[in-house]
Amino acid sequence: MPAAQTALVIGGGIAGPVAATALGMAGIDAAVYEARPADPASANGIGGSLAIEPNGLAALGIVGAEDAVRAAASPITHSMMSIASKPGRELPGRNEFPPRLLIDRGVLHRTLRDRAEQTGVRIHDGKKLIRVDEHPEGVTAHFTDGTSASADVLIGADGVHSIVRRLIDPNAPSARYLNLLGFEGLVDDAPDTADLVPGTMTFAFGKRAYYLYWKRPDGRIGWGANLPSPQYMSLKEARAVPAEEWLHTLRTTYANDVPGARLAAETTAETLQAVGALHIMPPVPHWHRGRMVLVGDAVHAPSNSTGQGASLAMESAIQLARCLRDLPDVSSAFDGYERLRRTRVEKIAARGARISHAKAPGPIAQRFMRVLLPLMVKASNAKTMAAEKGYTIDWETPLTEDTKTLA
Ligand SMILES: Cc1cc2nc3c(=O)[nH]c(=O)nc-3n(C[C@H](O)[C@H](O)[C@H](O)COP(=O)(O)OP(=O)(O)OC[C@H]3O[C@@H](n4cnc5c(N)ncnc54)[C@H](O)[C@@H]3O)c2cc1C
Repeated sequence: MPAAQTALVIGGGIAGPVAATALGMAGIDAAVYEARPADPASANGIGGSLAIEPNGLAALGIVGAEDAVRAAASPITHSMMSIASKPGRELPGRNEFPPRLLIDRGVLHRTLRDRAEQTGVRIHDGKKLIRVDEHPEGVTAHFTDGTSASADVLIGADGVHSIVRRLIDPNAPSARYLNLLGFEGLVDDAPDTADLVPGTMTFAFGKRAYYLYWKRPDGRIGWGANLPSPQYMSLKEARAVPAEEWLHTLRTTYANDVPGARLAAETTAETLQAVGALHIMPPVPHWHRGRMVLVGDAVHAPSNSTGQGASLAMESAIQLARCLRDLPDVSSAFDGYERLRRTRVEKIAARGARISHAKAPGPIAQRFMRVLLPLMVKASNAKTMAAEKGYTIDWETPLTEDTKTLA
């Protein structure tokens, strides 16, 4: 019998629906509570694209979402790096692994939610968690609309600004803002990108800021800007600024970069999307307390430089369900889950934090750039790649409290 019979999953982004589906497979009745109102047309208004690594895709295979995600995504077959507008150099070492997949975030959300609902998970939108009452036998979650729900355990899949993290430990660290705001645009191909084959993604370190661009299957160029901004802005605040103002700033920032200047110049107000401030989560001392536990960005958001945030969130969601399925009680299941996950996610976060330094603007970053290439190459070397991208979960094999299976 699983360690819990019922679960409340707070957050319907990526970790939430995957956790709920896996919990259902583990024999635990799970329901998802998402703060945003239902908005299927735009995935709750989030927007932008997201890369899923082979380890994330393997995790999705376990919950039966791999084929649907693969069908909606496009493969990134070549990864290049370019510094100061020099021609991109191919990053080595990816060939043994299947390509990462690029997918519209909204489509990914819809696909994961659809999969969860197909397996019997109930998803409630417009349910923002504000408070939790803890009882010896379970938890009751209270939402801003005045409703509440009870279950044996509560899973905080509520992202970098997690309220569940704070409920578990009022002194928990907050997510650290990286002084970068994300934007995405779409332009036509032109001579400065014409040589790239579709499926090529270039990580470009421009004169004043980092950006990345990729050739889509239709030949058009998608691009993402990491705009330096000491002032933090929520997604809502960034979207309240007229797109023309952002375009002006982006055009100034990338004015001396090839092809950055053109990407910014040709992006229109209609195609520009603000996609949110970039954060990392410092190590979280307490992943769980009592009947509450954290998963995904709420407990381990690595820098977006790793390209692993979503994939790690999916892995953790499944490992948590596996621990609740196999270990004898809630406390040992949460302990086992943390033991299975903490080392891996903190190692990947540490690598991402080093690379993130090099994305900051200014002369210090210029110095970092000189160390950047070896770091990126190191990240691409076979051993690091195998550890990060070759990770798979043996869902069928039962876990025991034996430290060997949980290390
Ligand atoms: C610009 C940008 C680009 C990125 N690119 C990539 C990439 O290419 N590859 C990659 O792997 N990762 C990328 N990431 C990181 C990735 O988005 C996260 O790692 C991933 O979304 C984590 O999933 P999650 O479900 O834990 O959190 P989220 O996706 O943030 O979902 C949390 C959910 O919880 C809900 N919620 C919050 N508070 C409450 C509450 N009180 N009550 C109820 N619900 C609540 C939110 O509305 C949200 O739907 C990127 C991030 C950014 C910002």
